[in-house]
Amino acid sequence: MYHSLMRKLIAVTAFAAVLCATQAGAGVQKHVVHHYADPMKIVKKENDNYWRNARETVYQTVPNLLATRKSELERGLAHAKLMHGDVEKKQIALTFDDGPHPSYTPKILEILRRYHVKATFFLVGELAEKYPRLVKAELGGGHCVGNHTYHHVNLTQIPSVYVAAEIKACGAVLNNIIGRPPHLFRPPGGDYNDQVARVAEALGYNIVLWTDDPADYANPGEKLIEQRTLDKIDNGGIILIHDGIQQTINILPKLLQELKDKGCEFVTVDQMLRNR
Ligand SMILES: [Zn+2]
Repeated sequence: MYHSLMRKLIAVTAFAAVLCATQAGAGVQKHVVHHYADPMKIVKKENDNYWRNARETVYQTVPNLLATRKSELERGLAHAKLMHGDVEKKQIALTFDDGPHPSYTPKILEILRRYHVKATFFLVGELAEKYPRLVKAELGGGHCVGNHTYHHVNLTQIPSVYVAAEIKACGAVLNNIIGRPPHLFRPPGGDYNDQVARVAEALGYNIVLWTDDPADYANPGEKLIEQRTLDKIDNGGIILIHDGIQQTINILPKLLQELKDKGCEFVTVDQMLRNR
């Protein structure tokens, strides 16, 4: 349960601890990310504010992303960012975040191979570093990969100097494995601000967001993942699902078949960018 959320929480907490140690050691003003609970102290998820809020905010990301874009346009900002593909084409991009994962990624790749579907994987740097063969298997299957930070942290909640460090560290890992610098970047949780966008752009990345988020990371049940995805799908859609969720793997073959039956053509995010 809440595998992905727990991993995020652990990553953020661990990262906050590192920041605390580093900055205290440097003698500068201490900046600690205070508001994350220690996951080890969480006994009952139902009684914990973090978990309750996470549940309530499920499937809120798409409206949030649209509101952010509206605010950017009003302020005259135009970041290099992909919100969706060509709305005139019946093309969709399937994106898997938070991998690679030794037991889940091979299963996802096998299903994609069987259905002749190419997808895009947004990878966590420290996991890619640990499982480089899985990253190579993703590329070998004709899929594309992108940067999802090194520690999977909320980039709007950490000191600015670490924003670039997080993106660069993941980029360096992927560069080592695939032999070229990645150019796709997805901020964890879709959480970004002007500064994060400027840093990502300066490092040569296109920010990739999404149109469809069935919130599979909260394990809502296979039926709900299927229904949310199919209800929202439209031309140029970018579907966000996760590597590391058993329910997603269980429903994936059916989902791919149903999307194909609707006439959707699967493209990678790279293809989507080229087709714009
Ligand atoms: Zn993520």
